[in-house]
Amino acid sequence: MDPQITWHSMLAAWTRGDWLEVIDLAEALLEWLDKDGFPPKTVAAPELGAQWHRVVTGAAAKFALAHATAVLEHPDGVPTIVAFTLTCAHCNSEGPTTYTLAKRNGWKGIQYSPTEMSENFLGVCPTCQAEDD
Ligand SMILES: [Zn+2]
Repeated sequence: MDPQITWHSMLAAWTRGDWLEVIDLAEALLEWLDKDGFPPKTVAAPELGAQWHRVVTGAAAKFALAHATAVLEHPDGVPTIVAFTLTCAHCNSEGPTTYTLAKRNGWKGIQYSPTEMSENFLGVCPTCQAEDD
């Protein structure tokens, strides 16, 4: 295994939301580190040293593994281990603070969007759905 390629592939899978791939690659990295394999460079500053990259790789792989698993375990792909912060993908209005309330209020297409900077979920609010009809 090339840990550098695996690291970049895991990050790419994360940004695509390819959760099965995230799980496979995170597990491969953790297994590699457990066998004292050299870590990938996690940032473009090699002077940080191997120990830095080992710790960052392990933490990121465990984080990615837990979140990808939580997405796949929920029937609607809504991981319960992250705060439910919802924004409308069309008008940027904020949604209810729970998934149950958002569904009850008519929000549709709610998806975990971990690459957003200020919310964890995107959906379409009832107002925008009415405008689309
Ligand atoms: Zn909206």
